[in-house]
Amino acid sequence: MTTSAIWWIRRDLRLHDNPALTAALQFEQVIPLFILDDHLLEKYKKAERRLAFLFDGLRRLDEDLRKRGSYLVVRRGNPDQVLPQIVSELNAHSVFAQDDTNPYARQRDQLLAEEVRLIFTAGTLICPAGSVLKDDQTPYTVFTPFKKNAIARGLPQEHDLDSLPIHIPTPPGIQTKSLDDLPQQTAAALFPAGEAEARRRLETFLADGIADYSAKRNFMGIPGTSQLSAYLRFGMVSAREAAVKAIAAREAAVNAEGKKGADTWLSELLWRDFFNHVEFHFPHVQEKNFNPTYDSLEWLNNAEDFEAWCTGHTGYPVVDAAMRQLNETGWMHNRTRMIVASFLVKDLLIDWRWGEKYFMEKLVDGDPASNNGGWQWSAGTGTDAAPYFRIFNPISQSQKFDLQGDYIRRWIPELAPLNDKLIHAPWEVSAVDQQAAGVIIGRDYPEPIIIHKFARQRTLDAYKQARENG
Ligand SMILES: Cc1cc2nc3c(=O)[nH]c(=O)nc-3n(C[C@H](O)[C@H](O)[C@H](O)COP(=O)(O)OP(=O)(O)OC[C@H]3O[C@@H](n4cnc5c(N)ncnc54)[C@H](O)[C@@H]3O)c2cc1C
Repeated sequence: MTTSAIWWIRRDLRLHDNPALTAALQFEQVIPLFILDDHLLEKYKKAERRLAFLFDGLRRLDEDLRKRGSYLVVRRGNPDQVLPQIVSELNAHSVFAQDDTNPYARQRDQLLAEEVRLIFTAGTLICPAGSVLKDDQTPYTVFTPFKKNAIARGLPQEHDLDSLPIHIPTPPGIQTKSLDDLPQQTAAALFPAGEAEARRRLETFLADGIADYSAKRNFMGIPGTSQLSAYLRFGMVSAREAAVKAIAAREAAVNAEGKKGADTWLSELLWRDFFNHVEFHFPHVQEKNFNPTYDSLEWLNNAEDFEAWCTGHTGYPVVDAAMRQLNETGWMHNRTRMIVASFLVKDLLIDWRWGEKYFMEKLVDGDPASNNGGWQWSAGTGTDAAPYFRIFNPISQSQKFDLQGDYIRRWIPELAPLNDKLIHAPWEVSAVDQQAAGVIIGRDYPEPIIIHKFARQRTLDAYKQARENG
C-alpha cells in the first residue's frame, strides 16, 4: 500500500528550506494542504490587503508545485473538522506542519494532535520558540541578552537549510477549492506575492542594501530596508535562510560599515524571533499589558482623535504622512511605526490595543507577535519596552529622519510648497508665508489636534499615577 503524508501549510508558503515539506517527503506521496480557516477569515476580514496577498501567495505556490508534479489542495472550514476529515479521506499516515507561536494556533494544534498524527517541525523562526532560555531555564524578557544567547547557541548555517525538492509526488484528483474562487484583487502593488518575488527581494537586498543598512535604515523617505516583512510573515522565504545569508554577507563585507550593516539586519531578524518567543512564553500579551503596572492607566480613548490618527489628519505631518502611506500601500517604515505608535499612545492617550488592531487591519505584513511587540514596546507596557518617560517628539523625529521633508511631500502633497524647515511644523508658518506658499493651515491641512508639549506632560502624569496605583 502506498503511504502518504499531508504537508499542512500555514506560515510556510515556500518550497526552499522547508522542514515540514522535507519531513513529509519521507513518504511515497505528499499532499500539500492549505486550510482557509473560517475563524481567521472572520477575525481578519477587514485586512483585505493581507488576505489578498495570502490568496495570491497560494496561487503562486500552486504554480510552483505544479512545476514539480504536485498541486495545492485548498479546503475551507474549521481545521478541527477539516484536517481529521481529509486525513481519513486520503488515509494519510501523518501530518507535518511548521510550529506556530500564536496562542490561537497552539491551542488549535494541541487539540488536533489528539485527533491525528500531527508532527511539528521548526522553520518559522531562526531559533525555534522555547529554544533560547536563560541559564535557569526561564525565558528572556530583554532583547540584547536574548540575542547574545541566540548567537552563542549557534545560528543556523548553510548546511542546516533544507534543499529544494525536485519532485513532489502528489496523487491526482484530490478535491480542492478552486483558487480562482478566492478574491482576485491585487494585494498591494508594492508587494507581489510568492516565493520567487521573496527570493528576488532577498537577493537584491543582499547585493545592494545590506552593506548600507545600518546607515540608511532609519530614514523613512529612502528604500534603506529589505521590505521583506510580508514575505517573512507568510514564510515565502525562511527566516533561517535570511539569517544564514546575513551572516555570509558579514563575512564577505569589505569594510566595517558593511559588517555593521549585516550585523544590524541580523539583529532585526532576531527581534522578530524575540517577539515570537515572548508570545510563546507569555501568551497573555495578546490581550493584556505584559507589565501589569500599567493596567490602571487611564486612557482617554477619544474617538475623534482616533479617527484623525487613522486617516492621517492629526496636523503633525510626519504622523499623517505615515498613516496615509499605511492606508494607501499596506506598509509603513519601522521608524514611522514607532513615531505614530508613540503619538497615538503617548500624545493622544489612546489604548495601544486600538492602534494594534488598526495596524492588523491595514498591514500586509501584519503579524500578531511582531505587531504586539512593537505596540507594547512603544506604549512602555511590554517586555523590553521603551521606558514610560520616552515620548517621541514628532517634530524632531521628522527633522532628523526626513531631512528635506521628501517623505512628507510624497504623502501630503498639499504641504509640498513649504520649505524644508517649515514642512515639519507647518503651524509655525506665518499667515503671510502661508499665503505666499498657497497653503493655508486649517483650510488645506489641519491645525494640530494636540500640542505636543502639553500632551507629553499629561502622559507623564498619567503613567506616574498608574505606577503609584501599582
Ligand atoms: C508599532 C509597530 C508595529 C509593528 N508591526 C509589525 C508587524 O505587524 N509585522 C512585522 O513584520 N513587523 C512589524 N513591526 C516591525 C517593523 O516595523 C517591520 O518588521 C519592518 O518595518 C518591516 O520592514 P522591512 O521588511 O523593510 O524590515 P527590515 O528592516 O529589512 O528588517 C528585516 C526583517 O526583520 C524583521 N523586523 C525588523 N524590525 C523588526 C521589529 N522591530 N520587530 C519585529 N521584527 C522586525 C521583519 O521581519 C523584517 O522584514 C512593527 C513595529 C512597530 C514599532
